[in-house]
Amino acid sequence: MGDGRRIRFWEDHWFGNSSLAIQFWPLYVLINEQGKTIAEAWDGETLKFSFRRTVSPLLMEMWNDILSIAEDISFSNEPDSVVWKFTSNGVYSVQSLYAVVSFRGVKPVYPPAIWDLYIPPRVQVFLWLLSNNKLLTRDNLLKRREVGDKTCVFCTEPESISHLFFDCCVANSMWEWCSSIFGIQLTGGFENVAKWWLSRKKHAVLNICTSAILWCIWKLRNAFCFQGEKWSDVRKLMRKTMAALRRWQGLCKEENVWQLEEVVAQLGAKAREPLKIMRESRWLSTAPPTTSWEPPLETQNSSSSGTLQSDL
Ligand SMILES: [Zn+2]
Repeated sequence: MGDGRRIRFWEDHWFGNSSLAIQFWPLYVLINEQGKTIAEAWDGETLKFSFRRTVSPLLMEMWNDILSIAEDISFSNEPDSVVWKFTSNGVYSVQSLYAVVSFRGVKPVYPPAIWDLYIPPRVQVFLWLLSNNKLLTRDNLLKRREVGDKTCVFCTEPESISHLFFDCCVANSMWEWCSSIFGIQLTGGFENVAKWWLSRKKHAVLNICTSAILWCIWKLRNAFCFQGEKWSDVRKLMRKTMAALRRWQGLCKEENVWQLEEVVAQLGAKAREPLKIMRESRWLSTAPPTTSWEPPLETQNSSSSGTLQSDL
């Protein structure tokens, strides 16, 4: 990117599909120093903002997301306007800036496709953090501070992004369900889900569903961690996913609406079925299979972030 002196950190549109102010509105309204440029706000180590009042734990999680985004900024000595030369036609595009800002010229295949999915902007940020191994799962949190309980909220395995979203028995039952509806193999890890993001038109509904599953696993996990919500069974996650899909319906193209409704109906039927006994749950402790998940980026910052909490 450029030297960061012309782009305002919160108000201008430089990450994702809208300004950070819009994507993180509840936090933005509490910031004292609105209007700061990126160069004024970020010195490579700290984000120089203060809040009007004490920030709740939920907003703190949002702040962690902002920190992770800032950590990926790299400045050059050129004025910001040269940024736009990174597109072939010389016109500003979010993707081109995003590729330069976030990956320092390296462009992994999956994360850029996230910005074209028909899902809420906050969920796009969430998927971006997930894809770059920057969500504050307990293993990542451990890189920042001591963590008392390192296990998954759903079972007895250590919590990591790979485990929570793909290998855990709870996630796995969601992927099995989704695989059976779409006739596509979605179990087995990040790549089996993310590779479909690349065909955003043909698999628009599939991608909305997989995004909703990932988002709802995270929301439910956070509700356990921060709001004392109690686990009942996997149908709770199904119901949350259905509710998210209904809320997001307005974001998808008209020709996809019927298919999405069909998927929600099938999920509803599934949620009403009697439960299979789950192997590997916290209460029937059998160790679940573990496969290692390598983040798709070659650069891994030591610190990272966050939780998305708003009700999208
Ligand atoms: Zn687990």
